[in-house]
Amino acid sequence: MTVTAKASDLRTEYRSFMEEHVYPREEALNREDDAAQELLAALRARAKAAGLWAPHLPPEAGGSGRGFLSYAHLNEEIGRLLWAQYVFNCQAPDAGNGEILHLFGTDEQKARWLAPLVDGDARSFFSMTEPDVSGADPTGLRTSAVLTDGDWVINGQKWFSSGAEGAAFGIVMAVTEPDSEPRRRMSQIIVPADAAGVTIEAVPILGHRGRGWTTHCEVTYTDVRVPAANLLGERGAGFLIAQKRLGPGRIHHVMRWLGQMQRAFELMCARALEREAFGGPLAEKQTVQNWIADSAAEIQACRLLTLDAAHKIDEARDARVEISLIKFYAADVLSRVIDRALQVHGALGLTDRSPLSHMYAAARGAHIYDGPDEVHRMVVSRRILQAFASGDGWGFE
Ligand SMILES: Cc1cc2nc3c(=O)[nH]c(=O)nc-3n(C[C@H](O)[C@H](O)[C@H](O)COP(=O)(O)OP(=O)(O)OC[C@H]3O[C@@H](n4cnc5c(N)ncnc54)[C@H](O)[C@@H]3O)c2cc1C
Repeated sequence: MTVTAKASDLRTEYRSFMEEHVYPREEALNREDDAAQELLAALRARAKAAGLWAPHLPPEAGGSGRGFLSYAHLNEEIGRLLWAQYVFNCQAPDAGNGEILHLFGTDEQKARWLAPLVDGDARSFFSMTEPDVSGADPTGLRTSAVLTDGDWVINGQKWFSSGAEGAAFGIVMAVTEPDSEPRRRMSQIIVPADAAGVTIEAVPILGHRGRGWTTHCEVTYTDVRVPAANLLGERGAGFLIAQKRLGPGRIHHVMRWLGQMQRAFELMCARALEREAFGGPLAEKQTVQNWIADSAAEIQACRLLTLDAAHKIDEARDARVEISLIKFYAADVLSRVIDRALQVHGALGLTDRSPLSHMYAAARGAHIYDGPDEVHRMVVSRRILQAFASGDGWGFE
């Protein structure tokens, strides 16, 4: 799992771009106002012109990707700053939507929906979670789609459709096969955001002022009609496609969190060395030293677990347990490391003068989105116990 020279050079290129163009504008971007939107558009144009664009997708899908492992290394750089994923056009949920359109879309769907996404001319959302039933257990989702006179007619209410405000289209999970077994009841359907009967309302959440990309939206579908050809993949394959999307998507999140952890860690070390209290630098206090040592161990454990999962995905091996393991473990480490770094900064850590306040608020969602911690722990322990009971050791390599 060593980094190839090519992957290492590419990481240096992304780092240089971020140092020159993105870090100096972080405070302005954090304001999420009109000026920040314009700035982001200009940075995207510059990144695209530099060829640092859509690194999550392979060239045949229009991206510049070189496999999952290489992307893991790159994302440690991109993840250091929340806005960088938007600058390089590899942001959630567009990244995951791009991947499933590439894997399951027809040629026509790819031309109409995937191409503008990869080019950065359109944004999208993924509409699965609903306010009235558990998102952790999506077998109970209720939004329905009925094939009527050659159209899907969709009715239901979703929320937490990230980025829906200003998006061109969404991919909606809807019940199309109500009589099938729970995991074959749903399909994925592409819905233009301006279709009659679609209403989108942003719901502000902790950590985001919420503009366009960073909105989390309630989306209502009332007798929305889209052509039968907007079905993505097969009827009843919604879950299977969601798993294809969410598995690598979870690893994408963790890769970016590694960048956040590493940055918080570096801020903690720098502050501990420069700030003096009780006759010496904070770096000489045992508690702070423990935080630094524990954080270093935990970050490195996350890094190795992430690379292990990425390596298995690249080799097309089953990585379900590895993905769940790293999803809940890394969310814990992310929160702990940012919290320790913030504490070492004292009151400064809570202000907008430090990136830590923004990072702290954004990190909380990591325990919930793409499956709550408890569900991922359940997946891991179930698999281990099954393997143990059947005498297969602990069930994964
Ligand atoms: C920032 C953010 C972005 C998101 N973006 C999207 C998006 O783009 N599209 C989309 O469709 N959804 C999105 N979501 C929604 C997300 O996927 C759901 O919130 C998540 O799946 C949990 O569903 P829920 O909120 O309905 O929680 P519930 O299912 O109501 O669960 C509530 C709590 O119950 C506990 N729990 C659940 N199951 C178990 C169990 N088996 N054992 C023990 N405890 C359990 C957990 O603590 C859990 O947090 C986003 C969420 C966030 C926070």
